[in-house]
Amino acid sequence: MHSSENFHTDVLVVGSGPMGATTALALATYGVRVQVVNRYNWTANTPRAHITNQRAAEVLRDLGVEADARRDATPWEWMGDTLFTTSLAGPEIARLRTWGTGDERIGDYLQGSPCPMLDLPQNKMEPILVQQAAARGAVFSWNTQYLGHVQDAHGVTVSLRDLNDGREYAVRARYLVGADGARSKVMDDAGLAVEGQLARAATAYVLFKADLTRYAAHRPSILYWIVTSNAAFGEIGMGLLRAIEPWKQWIAGWGFDPSQGEPDFSPEEILHKVRILTGVPDLEIEIDSTSVWYVNQAHAPVYSQGRVFCGGDAVHRHPPSSGLGSNTCMQDAFNLAWKLAFVVKGYAGASLLDSYTLERAPVGAQVVARANQSRLDYAPLNQCFRDKSAPDPVAAGLAQLADPGPAGVQRRAALADALKLKNYEFNAQGVELNQRCVSAAVLPDAEGGEEVWRRDPQLYLQATTRPGAKLPHAWLVARDGHRTSTLDVVGRGQFSLVTGLAGQAWVQAAEALARPFLRTVVIGAPGAQDVYCAWQAVREIDEAGALLVRPDGVVAWRQHQGAATALQAQQTLAQALDQILGQATAPGA
Ligand SMILES: Cc1cc2nc3c(=O)[nH]c(=O)nc-3n(C[C@H](O)[C@H](O)[C@H](O)COP(=O)(O)OP(=O)(O)OC[C@H]3O[C@@H](n4cnc5c(N)ncnc54)[C@H](O)[C@@H]3O)c2cc1C
Repeated sequence: MHSSENFHTDVLVVGSGPMGATTALALATYGVRVQVVNRYNWTANTPRAHITNQRAAEVLRDLGVEADARRDATPWEWMGDTLFTTSLAGPEIARLRTWGTGDERIGDYLQGSPCPMLDLPQNKMEPILVQQAAARGAVFSWNTQYLGHVQDAHGVTVSLRDLNDGREYAVRARYLVGADGARSKVMDDAGLAVEGQLARAATAYVLFKADLTRYAAHRPSILYWIVTSNAAFGEIGMGLLRAIEPWKQWIAGWGFDPSQGEPDFSPEEILHKVRILTGVPDLEIEIDSTSVWYVNQAHAPVYSQGRVFCGGDAVHRHPPSSGLGSNTCMQDAFNLAWKLAFVVKGYAGASLLDSYTLERAPVGAQVVARANQSRLDYAPLNQCFRDKSAPDPVAAGLAQLADPGPAGVQRRAALADALKLKNYEFNAQGVELNQRCVSAAVLPDAEGGEEVWRRDPQLYLQATTRPGAKLPHAWLVARDGHRTSTLDVVGRGQFSLVTGLAGQAWVQAAEALARPFLRTVVIGAPGAQDVYCAWQAVREIDEAGALLVRPDGVVAWRQHQGAATALQAQQTLAQALDQILGQATAPGA
């Protein structure tokens, strides 16, 4: 086979979960031929991951589907307070203002991104991604099982089975993306290893319908933790009620020990558990489905092998705590897709693809550690809620928590500290938005030095134009007078040269270079007026300086000052682009 051969598709993606569907949507948007296979006949059939953080929402915004996501999501304000209560109907113990909705954090969140957080279960998210991807040209092959692949210098031959009739056939693609989840066969076949511990704990989930409006609508939350001796369990030590369709469809969750086999999912046992968790002894429910999921703590140090690239749960496996699941998958996809597109189109050399592992593997490792730590961080809360020496630890612990004496005072002070620790799970804007890309696709800042974190980097976003960070959000004003974000004037599959009215030399340089993938954004000019002077406040460079922003919104290069001449600007800019993109070869190589 050689590079001029007729490929069936440019990129074949295995899996249509958050990783695969986002990859397909982005590639189709960028005009790259992409085919997705999924062994099932449609998208996720249970709610699964749901927290959609601001960075993932920014990905959706760039790909033009944020409005669809907002339409189908539980709105940000209803994500609300996370409750710790004896049951949904029973006495409440503690609340934490979460997901940035609290008075003390909401400003940080509003300042950090044009996108609100959303609660959008995967079975609603995936159809949005898939439908839009298909509308933009992605090909989806359902009931199609990936069997294996062989790669050579020019492409990948992927073996598939049509599960409708058992027929096996091969598809030839330039690149293969393994988005096949936590049991990834693509990873195995590519010889890529995942390190860590799998199934170290387990959780039982029951999706059910019951109208619990009267217990929830006045204190909206998507997570109600239930502290009770009767149905508590495992590492987190509490049962969970998660609002899926406020307030009529829910998930009841409880930990179980996987070494003791599967949990009891008989209708009687489920009703018993749900009645304990809700605290409504005569509640009737309609059971929709049951599932179990395992607590994994594992990640891959390397995400790619030759022409095969893996992402999502295939490369990082962790529990839902911190709500980083589908968010991280979607961001893997967003990082990878433009790079594949640029190489396929001949804008970049294949070496650009090496930056995918370098930029995303550290994030995967961090997310796995954070999510697992967030589970362990329930221990101090449980200590406040329990007295292990008593026959009924929860009853005794809660009695002490209400005690007017010194023991009660101490316990309540400990509760305040324990709640504060949970900000690292529930108000961790820094974990969500502070990633820094370090690779050859980002040119180090000549003047920046080491980054100094001004506040706790897990809790607080540090907006910066340092290369490797995402472009800071600042509100500008569009031609029609509507507010538009700095994020709205970059991205959409292109590199952006961002400068100010004083940066004319850079504008001329970009025009002279006339690269098909490079647009010029002059902040201050009509369409991007800095009427609030908000960009001035965050840009960290002179008005005449310049940034190169990648299609994924990451700053790739910055120049603090203006260029002396347009010619000098042109040389500097051309050199920067060549360094970032590597040595381009013929389209599709
Ligand atoms: C029951 C359940 C509940 C969960 N609950 C939560 C939660 O509450 N919160 C949270 O954050 N996360 C949760 N998760 C995890 C979350 O769903 C994942 O982080 C996320 O789905 C990973 O996305 P992905 O695209 O990498 O993989 P997946 O969503 O797992 O998608 C994998 C895709 O690959 C396809 N596939 C796999 N093998 C093959 C093959 N051989 N041939 C063809 N297709 C194949 C699958 O059909 C699927 O389309 C849950 C997961 C499960 C299974």
